[in-house]
Amino acid sequence: MAVAEQEQSEKALAEQLYKIRHSAAHIMAEAVLELYPDAKIAIGPPIENGFYYDFDLGKDEHGKPRTFQPEDLEKITKRMRQIIAGKHPFVYRQVSADEARQLFADQPYKLELIDGLAKGEVDEYGNEVSTAPVISTYKHDTFEDLCRGPHVESTSQVPADAFALMSVAGAYWRGDENNPMLQRVYGTAWQNKKELSAYLQMLEEAKKRDHRKLGRDLEIFFFDDDIGPGLPLWMPRGGIVIEELEKLAKEAERKAGYDRVRTPHLTKEGLFIRSGHLPYYAEHMYPPMELEGVRYYMKPMNCPFHHKIFAAKPRSYRDLPLRLAEYGTCYRYEKSGELFGLMRVRSMQMNDAHIYCSEEQFEEEFLGVVGLYLDYFKLFGIEKYVMRLSTHAKSGLGKKYVDNERLWLKTEDMVRRAMEHGNVPYVEIPDEAAFYGPKIDVQIWSAIGREFTLATNQVDFAVPERLGLKYTNHEGKEEVPLCIHRAPLGTHERMVGFLLEHYAGNFPVWLSPDQVRVIPVSEAHNDYAEKIARELQDSGVRAEADLGNDRMNAKIRAAQLLKIPYMPVVGEKEASEGTVSLRKRDGSQANGLPVAEFVAMVKEKIASRSSEL
Ligand SMILES: [Zn+2]
Ligand SMILES: [Zn+2]
Repeated sequence: MAVAEQEQSEKALAEQLYKIRHSAAHIMAEAVLELYPDAKIAIGPPIENGFYYDFDLGKDEHGKPRTFQPEDLEKITKRMRQIIAGKHPFVYRQVSADEARQLFADQPYKLELIDGLAKGEVDEYGNEVSTAPVISTYKHDTFEDLCRGPHVESTSQVPADAFALMSVAGAYWRGDENNPMLQRVYGTAWQNKKELSAYLQMLEEAKKRDHRKLGRDLEIFFFDDDIGPGLPLWMPRGGIVIEELEKLAKEAERKAGYDRVRTPHLTKEGLFIRSGHLPYYAEHMYPPMELEGVRYYMKPMNCPFHHKIFAAKPRSYRDLPLRLAEYGTCYRYEKSGELFGLMRVRSMQMNDAHIYCSEEQFEEEFLGVVGLYLDYFKLFGIEKYVMRLSTHAKSGLGKKYVDNERLWLKTEDMVRRAMEHGNVPYVEIPDEAAFYGPKIDVQIWSAIGREFTLATNQVDFAVPERLGLKYTNHEGKEEVPLCIHRAPLGTHERMVGFLLEHYAGNFPVWLSPDQVRVIPVSEAHNDYAEKIARELQDSGVRAEADLGNDRMNAKIRAAQLLKIPYMPVVGEKEASEGTVSLRKRDGSQANGLPVAEFVAMVKEKIASRSSEL
């Protein structure tokens, strides 16, 4: 009940914010049209945290596309506040296509949208739709927009002190680079001033924690033009983080009864045709290469390879559940404009596994997977997360979804029941499933409240059949297994990107590339420093002594910059007592700590994967 109520209020809040942001977009468009009366308006939807509107400002006297200047945003903001204070009601009306064409006679982008609406192909944002929409507008003050709402009742309900215009960016009309480049103004809008300043503060903090910056400063990863966009290179320090994550996954998966397999990076075309990835998924794949008259593809996913391993020998119910795991490297084509640090890449190493099971085993297996997620969340201190169950839509059967309504309803129900029996909170989203079955997207929030999509968890009732997978059941009859695709740690790329931000680069000791750096007070203490480093190394700790020529303070500073958890400082006193003066990354200090005690402490923090220093 509590969950349902909370969901209800979250939904109401989301609707209210949607209306505020959508209304702010209209108000901004009115203000822009006053400032640039010849501007052409395109689309202006609400988005996460705010809204935008796309404008075509025409050409300047030199024939170049006109752009917004920073002072324009101030002017627009000021005018928006006046419009808000004018308490203009938002008024809805339905219009015919011809009326709409008259209304927007001097707005070519709107005319194009109206054509799409009239044909029943797209909505007012140009998104494809399957049923013909009604054509409607919303008007406030002097501004009328092609729109189906919803909006707040009056401009006064957009809080004048809780919105801000953030930035201007170029954006192609309908995302197509052959179309004109428009000016997109981004804004953010909230329920009150307090929420706005919390959001702006979070953005500030996020900038400091930007994984691209931290990744460079901490020598974790980089990109190189000679290698290609979206293809990260992991430096030795990044390599360590990745190995630790794999060690974690392997331990957890061994305990949960997974078997590890390995598969090649490319495969013949036919396999992906049979699995159904081709041609539907072709736009996300690297183009094929031809060899000995056969076309090969880099794999965008590992599934068909694992399916082949399932099919490599006759299977009976005694083999099930069979859990095949692999940190598989996949290659996907993402448009270069959409690549973003480690978050959107073209090569990725996935914490992948496929679980083949019978229907009776499904619930336990599915909850086992969810349990893994929850264990990881706890380990990483991820306090906020949401599991979104994406289901099919009847209208998409045979198009974006495998055409078997009975199995859709059945598997969706199985997932719902499993989630309810396991007491796992989830929200349901229709018409977002994978083509072969329902899926669960896992959204997590970093320590500063930024949302990340970590991984998906999918049920597949179609591809095993397509690939002819079967097992012999108790009665000696052949049956097709269900397959669960899962990747709780997502990809290394996304996970490390997330963890860099989440920890602001301060990895817990077990994940830290360098765990201890011993710093001698002067050269005279190099031997003692080295002895301690060696003792730590012998215990499996990533430790080194800084024997360089810099002064002690410079060495401490260098270690701080790399966010090394422990910096034991050793001089005359420590050497004679067999102790260290421990400086921790967080600034705390412990003097006269016996070496044996220090080593034992570090070992314990690592072994328990503690989040404390
Ligand atoms: Zn609108
Ligand atoms: Zn898969």
